[in-house]
Amino acid sequence: MDETGYKKALRDIARIAGEAVGDQASAANDAAGFDPGAGCHIMLLPPRLQQRAAEVAATENPTNAPLQELALGDGVLTPQRLTLYTSRYWGPVPKALTVSFMESTAKELRERIVSHLNAWATYGGISFAETSGIGDVRISRGPGGYWSYLGTDIKLIPKNRQTMNLQGFSMSTDEKEYRRVIRHEAGHTLGYPHEHMRQVLVDRIDPQKAYDYFLRTQGWSKEMVDQQVLTALDPAKIIGTEPDQDSIMCYQLPGAITKDGKPIRGGLDINPLDSAFTATVYPKILRDTEARASTGAETEVPLPRTPVAVDWDPQDDVLASL
Ligand SMILES: [Zn+2]
Repeated sequence: MDETGYKKALRDIARIAGEAVGDQASAANDAAGFDPGAGCHIMLLPPRLQQRAAEVAATENPTNAPLQELALGDGVLTPQRLTLYTSRYWGPVPKALTVSFMESTAKELRERIVSHLNAWATYGGISFAETSGIGDVRISRGPGGYWSYLGTDIKLIPKNRQTMNLQGFSMSTDEKEYRRVIRHEAGHTLGYPHEHMRQVLVDRIDPQKAYDYFLRTQGWSKEMVDQQVLTALDPAKIIGTEPDQDSIMCYQLPGAITKDGKPIRGGLDINPLDSAFTATVYPKILRDTEARASTGAETEVPLPRTPVAVDWDPQDDVLASL
């Protein structure tokens, strides 16, 4: 697509998304209220691998052309609200990520989880397919809460470690939680950070109340709250303009920790702006996402508790093949 056509397509997508979203999503989320179990954090690489992460992202996304277009376009982005961390972007070339499970997991459950990862593939040219080998995306349902590494960072995680944690998910977990949590974590794998870390939303949070709240509900240290909630995203490193508190990537935050006493609603599912943005940054083509099945017993895991940052022996660093 030439430059003019690309910009027109972006404008059309943004216009359609803006018309579709209306106030319906806001009303639905207001009615849903706040769920204190919403905790998710983005798992960060050990500091020694930060520079390497940027190199891997550049390797995965050598063209970067549409991103430059998005970043430099005059007004093209205005109605779009989801955010992409450009340094962790998989790139505009259609991408199929393989998925495996850390624990023995029943076929029915594996397929249900992968189907929710692929909710994004409905809109964008990035999809997930189960492999019987070791996947690009490795899912654990063990302790640690809900989290994922961000975008291309998953390439740097040792193969014997998960890139996404979905503690306690089972076939009895409510479908709404599959939509809210798994689609959200899949968004991190696509390179989308937390929408609540946009500056305008961070500015609404009372830091001391946030420290108290996250210590009480998540067991997070002050440093963890600073890192996950109170440090606004650098505008130079993201695409996206106006924050969208109804995005699937927005955390639900209670009015008790905001300066104005009003909650930050948080998204419960991929909303029209999320899907339109994804269609833009991950252009779609048809692809075969048929999962390969294997058998295994479902593993019982304990209920969610405090997530922790992790590191591993530097000898396990994924360097040789990149
Ligand atoms: Zn998250």
